[in-house]
Amino acid sequence: MKWPVVTIATLILASSAVIAQPRTVTIGTGSATGVYQAVGEAICRLLNRESPRHGIHCTVKSSDGSVQNVNAIKGGEFDFGVVQSDVQYHAVKGQGLFKESGPDNDLRAVFSVYPEPLMVLARNRSGVEKFEDFKDKRFNVGNPGSGTRATVDMLLKALNMKPGDFAQATELSPDEHGPALCDSRIDGFGYVVGNPAANLHYTTKTCNARLIPLSGPAIDRLVVNYPYFAYTTIAGGTYPGNREPVRTFGVVATFVTSAKVPDDVVYAVVSAVFDHFAEFRKQHPSFAHLQPTDAINSGLTAQLHNGAFRYFREKGIIRRGD
Ligand code: GLU
Repeated sequence: MKWPVVTIATLILASSAVIAQPRTVTIGTGSATGVYQAVGEAICRLLNRESPRHGIHCTVKSSDGSVQNVNAIKGGEFDFGVVQSDVQYHAVKGQGLFKESGPDNDLRAVFSVYPEPLMVLARNRSGVEKFEDFKDKRFNVGNPGSGTRATVDMLLKALNMKPGDFAQATELSPDEHGPALCDSRIDGFGYVVGNPAANLHYTTKTCNARLIPLSGPAIDRLVVNYPYFAYTTIAGGTYPGNREPVRTFGVVATFVTSAKVPDDVVYAVVSAVFDHFAEFRKQHPSFAHLQPTDAINSGLTAQLHNGAFRYFREKGIIRRGD
């Protein structure tokens, strides 16, 4: 009669071994009115639905944006974060804003999410037709810690401009820049964000703000010289009052983590999104056109995290020999 008892005990032991330790993971996003917040919320929603199975609880933390997310992942404050592909590149290589801290060898890519152009908006009747017209006007260059600020700095350099060329270079957050534009406290702002963005919808609808194109020889050089930049066109009618298509350039929003986050945690996060991919794509119009293969082929400089690699390999999204 001893035999069945041992078997049951063994079964209990074996099944308890697959129940993971409860764990909370934090996703660093951006400002409350940005699309990164929607990325974090969508991922947490899908993950938390299955908490009883994997034991992981997910929370979203708003932040200054990409640069802060990279730094907070490095410091262990966030487990995951949404990060512009140009910022990811600079962090991995130890360039630009990360020159002093050096290459971030622990930063890991999980997947990329959607194209994120640099959107420049001008106040209606500000007289601005092209970016250079912001000289001697008040322009919001973006808050420190944002990816927007890093990209705007590169644009200024490419155009041989500097913040001192503006009458005032403000550093408002994306939550503040729309109201500031509509109250005539600034003449324009830059924002690297997925489209359509509620933040830009508010500004264009409230005070007829206009999208300013970014193209020409200086931007051609940026796109040719930097692997993470690409030209893109914002379809006419994406925003109220902006009926014509507008050419600009931009990057890709990516989802990253640290090598220190365990493989099974990253695997659970990736499964929650890609096992329910059609549902994920419906969570925000910016994700609508995402394809699983794009998610691992565009904008990733950091090494893919082992947990993500295992999932994509199992599903045949990464094939042997890739
Ligand atoms: N790309 C922006 C940044 O890194 C954030 C955009 C968003 O929150 O949707 O600063």
